[in-house]
Amino acid sequence: MSSLRELTRSIRPTWAEIDLRAFDANVDAIVARLPERTRLIAMLKADAYGHGAVELARRCVTRNVAMIGVALLEEGLELRRHGITTPILVLGPLNEPQVRTAIEQDITMGVPGPEELEIIAGVAKERDVAIHLKIDSGMGRMGSVETELPRVVEILRSAPRLRVDAFYTHFANASDSHDPFTDEQLARFDTLVETLREAGITAPHHHAANSAATLRGITPRDFVRTGIALLGSAPLDRESTRLLPLLRWRTEIARLKELPPGHAIGYGTTFHTKRASRIATLPVGYADGYDRHLSNHADVLVRGKRAPVVGRVSMDLVTVDVTDIDDAAVGDEVVLLGRQGDDEIAVEELARKLDTITYEVFCNVSARVPRIYLDGADAVSIRTRFDA
Ligand SMILES: *Cc1c(COP(=O)(O)O)cnc(C)c1O
Repeated sequence: MSSLRELTRSIRPTWAEIDLRAFDANVDAIVARLPERTRLIAMLKADAYGHGAVELARRCVTRNVAMIGVALLEEGLELRRHGITTPILVLGPLNEPQVRTAIEQDITMGVPGPEELEIIAGVAKERDVAIHLKIDSGMGRMGSVETELPRVVEILRSAPRLRVDAFYTHFANASDSHDPFTDEQLARFDTLVETLREAGITAPHHHAANSAATLRGITPRDFVRTGIALLGSAPLDRESTRLLPLLRWRTEIARLKELPPGHAIGYGTTFHTKRASRIATLPVGYADGYDRHLSNHADVLVRGKRAPVVGRVSMDLVTVDVTDIDDAAVGDEVVLLGRQGDDEIAVEELARKLDTITYEVFCNVSARVPRIYLDGADAVSIRTRFDA
């Protein structure tokens, strides 16, 4: 255990703090909401939406998490390489060499369609393989649709060592509680599962719910697959239920200068001071994932107060106007995302300004930003893409 100050002394002053205890609390809060027989699959794809899949997966080991879900085989392999023994579900799609690797590494495949099923059936001639079979209940993306089921049945019948552990589907519109499409998808899922059953293909487990459906209480079946809710962002379009945010992205004032009225700031000279101003330069930019569309369009927190971004966000630097923050000084902490004092730059706020969803804001925080993992007040680890 080291103090944050020690841990960060040799790195740039821009980093993202990830609160591991908040993650634990969110896992527990989700699990507490689930019906008795329903278990949690923690979706940690895309590096846990930029939060760090390995570190969060380690917390899952000691908690009540049934599986960890990832999108890419590489993401699953990274977890295995770091000693994570929790069952892993990879959503795919995977090609034949990847299928073989997944099986060797004990990674369960979510099978998106007959093509991949056929590959897996080929491997299952030599050994037992268990899969989760995805059904397309209306989203038109991954999963087998009704017209593909006869082929799915045929492949499964001819592959006695291939076992289907679960049928699952995915909702397109669960974040909108007024949209009837989620109910339609569930009904469609049931119908297609019944079609399979009539053809002699059954599975002991079923799952469908993402974070939005889970928080709305649509948690039928055996597992829920939650990602964003575990990170403390509201998955619903309205009536936001938010758990504890994990990520706090901070930097510092690197330069502070007094500028006269009418002075230009940044590329394109999109901003000119309207008064005698104090302009702070921050060592962070769009290469770190601070979106260029936030130019002249976002606030940061300095000494618990809001300071507007002025001028263009450049690759490595951002300029903010701290004229109204009396004591602002070089070295002051600046929060780009998260809490400082009584105020917060919520990820939802940035997503709204960027006309996107919180998922993308998180995913965009680039690998150039060190991740510092906090367990209470202690900094327990740091991840940076540079050698320390
Ligand atoms: C990403 C993903 C999830 C998790 O979605 P959240 O909205 O983050 O909970 C669940 N299921 C599938 C198939 C996914 O791709």
